[in-house]
Amino acid sequence: HVTEQHAPAVVTGGAGGIGRAVTAALAEAGHHVLAVDITTGADPAAHAELVADVGDPSAAEELFRHIEQEYGPPSVLVNNAGIYEARDFFDYDAESYRRVLDVNTGSAFSCTQSMARRLVAAGRPGSVVNIASISGRVGSPDTAYGASKGAVIALTRGLGRSLAPHGIRVNAVAPGVIDTPMAARIPADRTTGYLDSVPLGRFGRAAEVAAAVRYLAGPDSGYVTASVLDVDGGLH
Ligand code: NAD
Repeated sequence: HVTEQHAPAVVTGGAGGIGRAVTAALAEAGHHVLAVDITTGADPAAHAELVADVGDPSAAEELFRHIEQEYGPPSVLVNNAGIYEARDFFDYDAESYRRVLDVNTGSAFSCTQSMARRLVAAGRPGSVVNIASISGRVGSPDTAYGASKGAVIALTRGLGRSLAPHGIRVNAVAPGVIDTPMAARIPADRTTGYLDSVPLGRFGRAAEVAAAVRYLAGPDSGYVTASVLDVDGGLH
């Protein structure tokens, strides 16, 4: 169950803070990284940059068909695309709730399905790493976000078990607050006092999340699946 080093690795949300760090880490590990994002701005280490809205439930199939044709079949997928909205519970409507779930959870579901379907048909192993969050462990006042990340954790556990017979591992990383553009959008009153509860006493760095992703994506974690690795300074 060892993934091929030079097979393409797909990183969704590849233009974001964690996505750029993951791209650099996987490129250093020898992968051709395909950075997928709704906007441009991938790390220069990316082999290619693809623009797609992975929150569109019909996008994944077309994306993976295109990737397979242009770059060969990928065996590593990092489901990292995500949106965070500091929205009060009472200000959500069905559409804004669904969009958060579609991007943060639905994209992991559909992209994993599109890659795994191809791997299973070809009898090849693979590795999927989902980016969850401490919010998925403990909940969040940003309710839709917390719910979407809790679902990512349950998805990881379920897919880890069901895809194991096919040699496809599925794991997640659950970061605490990491210093990225997303964290800068968290209202100050929601992070006041947060660091007092973090045993390591600081925010995390994108490179520290990327190192955990690199481990879970690669052969060193060959006996690890359906697991969730907290990268949160000891908070959870
Ligand atoms: P970020 O905002 O810097 O990056 C997120 C990226 O996802 C952006 O480049 C954005 O354009 C992209 N994206 C959003 N919607 C998309 C869509 N529909 N299709 C394709 N791409 C889309 O944020 P980040 O901090 O790098 O977050 C990366 C992941 O880590 C997210 O899943 C986030 O929820 C998770 N996370 C972040 C933190 C944190 O504190 N920064 C903590 C826990 C988990």
